[in-house]
Formats: sequence, structure tokens, C-alpha cells
Amino acid sequence: MASRVTFIGAGNMAGAIIGGMIDHGHPAAAITATSPSDEFLAPLRARLGIRTETDNAAAVRDADIVVLAVKPQIMRGVCEGLRDALQARRPLVISVAAGLTADTLQTWLGGDLPLVRCMPNTPALVGAGAAGMFATAEVSAAQRDQASELLEAVGLVEWVEEEGLLDAVTAVSGSAPAYFFLMFEAMEEAGVKLGLPAETARRLAIQTALGAARMAQQSEFSPDRLKRNVMSPGGTTERAIEHLERAGLRQTLSEAMDACAARAREMA
Ligand code: NAD
Repeated sequence: MASRVTFIGAGNMAGAIIGGMIDHGHPAAAITATSPSDEFLAPLRARLGIRTETDNAAAVRDADIVVLAVKPQIMRGVCEGLRDALQARRPLVISVAAGLTADTLQTWLGGDLPLVRCMPNTPALVGAGAAGMFATAEVSAAQRDQASELLEAVGLVEWVEEEGLLDAVTAVSGSAPAYFFLMFEAMEEAGVKLGLPAETARRLAIQTALGAARMAQQSEFSPDRLKRNVMSPGGTTERAIEHLERAGLRQTLSEAMDACAARAREMA
């Protein structure tokens, strides 16, 4: 029988994961989503056929997995409101909230629950996410598998064995879609300077990123080898790559990611 999954919060992230789960064959009748008003719930009910509920505690009473998908600022009140029902049932709890540690969540939830912290990213909204996951000691191997299956419905899942490494995940994937959007912006601007219409430059840059990502994912070769394969000696690509290296792109990226991880640590 499919596990019964309750989403606390029915916004972008919950909607994306629920959509992915249903696409992957999870029965809609085994999925519940909550929100204080029906405004967010009615479209999900209509579009996906899931169960909905405005009372959080009632919604977790028969759940095998509870996904906490509300904004971090209101998480404390939400957790405290769920504490008794969760302690009675002891389902697997998965938090997708940025910056709230397992210890903090456990304190609000009354302690010792099997808890997974997940750091997803926005491409989950189009089924191409990349998520880092950390499990507390209370999580069984079977529950880890359940958590993987759930998030794999919207993309790649990588486990880390130390919670602090979720800050590194934030730097490598959580915040990283924006690095690529910045690249697209810059490449479009540069393409326009070279005479291309903006839309043409944008489409070419984005499609090239998609192609490079697919090649890197499917190839047996490392990114370095793939890069060298495109660089014929004395050619155009070699000229561009030499310029990027000389200008310090590697160092800049490394410093940006250090700053990102440091900010994630500060916010925890
Ligand atoms: P959102 O604003 O789209 O959704 C939040 C939902 O919570 C809404 O449906 C709202 O009605 C509901 N809600 C508000 N108060 C509630 C309550 N008391 N009980 C139950 N539901 C309540 O937010 P989102 O973008 O889906 O973000 C949800 C979580 O996911 C956040 O903690 C965020 O840090 C995390 N996250 C989101 C993204 C992203 O790309 N959107 C990426 C990484 C992490």
C-alpha cells in the first residue's frame, strides 16, 4: 500500500513535490495538503485530486510521512501546533524549510522524532530539482528510502552524513540556480554587444546550458575532459576559456560559494 503523505503548507514547494509524486504513480488519495484557508487548497484539489484539510493536527493523524512545507518564519507555531499529534503517531517528518536545524525543529516538535532535513532548489518546480538530504539518528533505512523516493519525484537526491554539510549543499545547488541565471543574463548582454538580437542570444545561451548539462550528466568523461574536447589548439573556445581562467572565474565562484555557505551558517 502507498504511504500516506501529509504536506503542511500547500504552496510552491509542496505543489511541485505533490505533482511529481502523482506523475510517478503515487495515488492522489494517499496525499493530503493543508493550509489555513481554502484559497491555496481548492486549486490543488481540482488539479491533482488530493485530499485537503485546514486543520494541521487532524491532517497528520493517519500519516506515515509528514512534510513541513511552510515558510521558516511561521514554522515554530506550526510545529508546536502539531507536537501532540506527531508525538502520538511518530511518522517520518521531512522539513524543506531553509535554515532551520534538526535540533531546533525537534525542540519545537517535542523531540526524538524521525526527522529528515531537505535542502531543495527551485528547479524542483519544473521537475529538475537537486536536493541535499540529512537524516537524524531516529530515521530508519526504510524511511530514508521513502524520503529519497518522495524527493526523487522532482529531481536528484544526494544524502549528506553531517548536518553542517547542508550549508555546502546550499552553496552548490540550493542557491545555485541564480548563478546560472546571472550567466544567462551576462551572455545575453554580451551577445547583444556582438550584434545578436537579445531574444536570439538568450535562447542560444539557455539551450547551450541545457545541452552542456545533459552532456555532462550522460558522459563518462569529467567536465574538465569535456571542456578540453571542445578546445582545439589555437581555436575560438581555447581563447575564451583562457580569458575566463585569467580573469579568475574559478576564484570568484569559490568566494561566492564560501559567502553563501557562511550566510547559511549564520541563518541557522
Ligand atoms: P509558499 O509561500 O508558496 O507556501 C507556503 C504555504 O504555507 C502556503 O500554502 C500557505 O497557505 C501555507 N501556510 C501558511 N500558514 C500555514 C499554517 N499555519 N499551516 C499550514 N499551512 C500554512 O512557500 P514555498 O515557496 O512553497 O516554501 C515552503 C518552504 O519550502 C519554505 O520553508 C522554504 O524555505 C522552502 N523552500 C522553498 C524553495 C522554493 O523554491 N520555493 C526552495 C527551497 C526551500
